[in-house]
Amino acid sequence: MAGFPIEFASRIKTLPPYLFAAIDEMKQKAMARGVDIINLGIGDPDLPTPAPIIERLKQAAADPKNHQYPSYEGLLSFRQAVANWYQRRFVVTLDPVSEVLGLIGSKEGIGHVPLAFVNPGDIVLVPSPGYPVFPVGTTFAGGIPHLMPLLKQNGFLPDLDAIPQDVARRAKLMFINSPNNPTSAVAGKDFFKRVVAFSLEHQIIVCHDAAYSEIYYDGRRPPSFLEVEGAKDVGIEFHSLSKTFNMTGWRIGFAVGNKQILAGLGKVKSNLDSGIFQAVQEAGITAIQSDDQLTDGLRKLYQERRDVLVPGLNRLGLAVDMPPAAFYVWIAVPKGYTSTAFTTHLLEKAGIVTTPGNGFGAAGEGYIRMTLTTPKERLAEVVERIKKAGF
Ligand SMILES: *Cc1c(COP(=O)(O)O)cnc(C)c1O
Repeated sequence: MAGFPIEFASRIKTLPPYLFAAIDEMKQKAMARGVDIINLGIGDPDLPTPAPIIERLKQAAADPKNHQYPSYEGLLSFRQAVANWYQRRFVVTLDPVSEVLGLIGSKEGIGHVPLAFVNPGDIVLVPSPGYPVFPVGTTFAGGIPHLMPLLKQNGFLPDLDAIPQDVARRAKLMFINSPNNPTSAVAGKDFFKRVVAFSLEHQIIVCHDAAYSEIYYDGRRPPSFLEVEGAKDVGIEFHSLSKTFNMTGWRIGFAVGNKQILAGLGKVKSNLDSGIFQAVQEAGITAIQSDDQLTDGLRKLYQERRDVLVPGLNRLGLAVDMPPAAFYVWIAVPKGYTSTAFTTHLLEKAGIVTTPGNGFGAAGEGYIRMTLTTPKERLAEVVERIKKAGF
């Protein structure tokens, strides 16, 4: 055999095993048997990007001035549109030059921010269950994730008082995420105030992931972290156009807030990437400027789906709260099941793909996650199928 053994670096060798691989294999097998699978496993909007955004992309793609390298931090017009939206939506004033940074999707910024601030051995506080990029971005930077369990008795918010003093002292950065994936919990301004106080006391940078801020129900709009006093002194907030405008494939998001923190993230980025395709930024401006015109219908749609699925599951005896935001339903597994066992049961006996809660971290054990990115007729069928299969 020619060559030599190709060995992965320890930073990727030590990544946790892909927990969904087994589910995926079962799903493939069921499909091969001809089972009509209902996939509630993926958090990707099922509807297309709204037409005005696509039209704007088409025009902008034809303009040669958009064919060259974009600026690292994003078009000033894009950042201005973001600042204007913040003023309208949250009554927060941002300087588009220094307090807004364009991202190639918010995942990109979340994954890169530890590289700017975390030294090897530093602690990063991450919610568990949570978005896997928080701990993975941390370990890529040599940091050590300290898990903050999201428990039902705390409204699925991190309990800051439960963080040991020595951990808080060694922590450099903390991730929080509201509306939350996977629990759908929403943090109020009172929680954000406590985060600012905690951050000031221990000198911890706050990174708030607000990817779902515009997916909310019953007219109750989640606040921005930056709405509370002092937040801009200690943190930044990540946003994404992905979920808000059905643009997951386009790769555009942004971070806003503290200019020193954004400068650090920007420095990492300018050494690794070359910004967002300008035509996509032009389309992004159209999206952001549309305010609620493009998003009202989406919220209504997800809410209708929620109102079919959640009461249906409750009627079957499953313990599920009505999600106030995001498009996830976080379900406590029935007695006698683990997360993985219940996910397997639903797939084998009902042809329904869900995500086991422990896939989002140890504290997710005892739950499964379903998504609302499937038409309501299918969600009604989910309830019927589970009823028939029993548990
Ligand atoms: C989907 C998601 C994101 C990011 O999406 P991008 O497409 O990278 O902007 C960020 N955070 C959470 C919690 C998500 O679920």
